[in-house]
Amino acid sequence: MGRERIYLFDTTLRDGAQTNGVDFTLSDKVVVAKMLDGLGIDYVEGGYPGANPTDTELFAEDRGMHTTFTAFGMTRRPGRSTSNDPGLATLLDAKADAVCFVAKSSDYQVRVALETTEEENLASIRDSVKAAKDKGREVLVDCEHFFDGYKANPEYALACAKAAYDSGARWVVLCDTNGGTLPHEVEEIVRAVTNVIPGDHLGIHAHNDTEQAVANSLAAVRAGARQIQGTLNGIGERCGNANLVSIIPTLKLKKEFSDRFDIHVSDDQLKALAAASRKLDDMLNRAPNRHAPYVGDSAFATKAGIHASAIMKDPATYEHVAPESVGNRRRVLVSDQGGRSNLLAELERIGMVVDRNDARIARLLEEVKEREALGYAYEGADASFELLARRVLGKVPDYFDVEQFDVNVEQRYNAIGKRVTVAMAVVKVKVDGETLISAGEGNGPVNALDVALRKDLGKYQKYIDGLKLTDYRVRILNAGTEAVTRVLIESEDERGESWTTVGVSPNIIDASFQALMDSIVFKLVRSGATA
Ligand SMILES: [Zn+2]
Repeated sequence: MGRERIYLFDTTLRDGAQTNGVDFTLSDKVVVAKMLDGLGIDYVEGGYPGANPTDTELFAEDRGMHTTFTAFGMTRRPGRSTSNDPGLATLLDAKADAVCFVAKSSDYQVRVALETTEEENLASIRDSVKAAKDKGREVLVDCEHFFDGYKANPEYALACAKAAYDSGARWVVLCDTNGGTLPHEVEEIVRAVTNVIPGDHLGIHAHNDTEQAVANSLAAVRAGARQIQGTLNGIGERCGNANLVSIIPTLKLKKEFSDRFDIHVSDDQLKALAAASRKLDDMLNRAPNRHAPYVGDSAFATKAGIHASAIMKDPATYEHVAPESVGNRRRVLVSDQGGRSNLLAELERIGMVVDRNDARIARLLEEVKEREALGYAYEGADASFELLARRVLGKVPDYFDVEQFDVNVEQRYNAIGKRVTVAMAVVKVKVDGETLISAGEGNGPVNALDVALRKDLGKYQKYIDGLKLTDYRVRILNAGTEAVTRVLIESEDERGESWTTVGVSPNIIDASFQALMDSIVFKLVRSGATA
């Protein structure tokens, strides 16, 4: 028997755009759509033309992608004809390969939300599908509230699905709109629907309100559905949509699925998954979820010493798939629970060649343990760890010396009588025997210090011009008797490479300064700068 095809439908730009705090610009949408296209996603739903200017503009021109670029919209309004519905006209004029209609499939929703009759709703589905087909579009119908509707009135829910299918919709998508359906229910209901509509015309659209959107999507595939709708990183309103970043590797790497099904995502495209997940977070200015399955920083991280030494012998001992297959990597965490083997593994990973019996290894281990007791967290700050290791092993040049810095925060009335807080920093740096003084202004003391520090580093300036801070996190810890502040700074360079540094002190400016310094020195080491 031949392998069956599963189609992936991404709705990051439509349903994902409903997420609290997410607001895509037109250029964001184009970038995300092209990234999804590059990943091999079959359908990319760009938005709802006519609903807002961004989406209207997105569909105003042909975006030239391989994917089936899809516009979302409503079926014709009750009581109108398809030729007399401006919303439908806009949708049908959109430069899209496919149209995805949302239609009610629950008698309760038809009565209460749509305020029309069951028969008129069916007619609206039929007419809208035909109108889009006549325009030469591929048609999908999202059957909203399908599972809840089916539980209350299976005949009517099926009648809606069948109206879409019989009128020529390529896909009838069963939606768990409120997200409350459980995997065994999804499997049972989808299986029942396959008696009426062939599985290779059925899709699943799951929401994550019981944290089972991924499980529900896979349950639907087991029952016969052959299209999965979801979003990157599972973004979406409330608790989110089914997370394609988890679904794709599961379909590709888990035998139950990979033996039976093909998806359009190649092995090479799969390797770009972690970067794609990361890129979306960056664009939304969100800190990535370290514990995200497959792609998170911690997804292949091991802490306990005994696990780490086994992993070095054979990674399969504690890994369910190879991290490289999704573009992630193995991390062996340096921590007070680990020992020598962790440390050696981590040094090997960052490419530092050391003799296992080097006496300095024991010193480095001591140093790491002491610092972690003070509040440093090296597992979240690999760049600071690498610098510490290089320093103990004598491999960091003395690039420059900050002789003095001064930070000043002032609150006053500005020229238009508004109360403002301004921070200023002055930094005195010695580079090559020469003293350089720079001043910087910022919206806060750390920002001002950062600006001043990076303004003039003499001959090193060219290495740090492309450096920017992308995240700044502060935690107050109780280490011993007094509270200390831990600062984690994430930086990025002109090539998009990022790294994290840490600083710890009772004083937040000191802690930030350490992390800033580590970030700059790390960049100089990376760039191969010499003293
Ligand atoms: Zn949805």
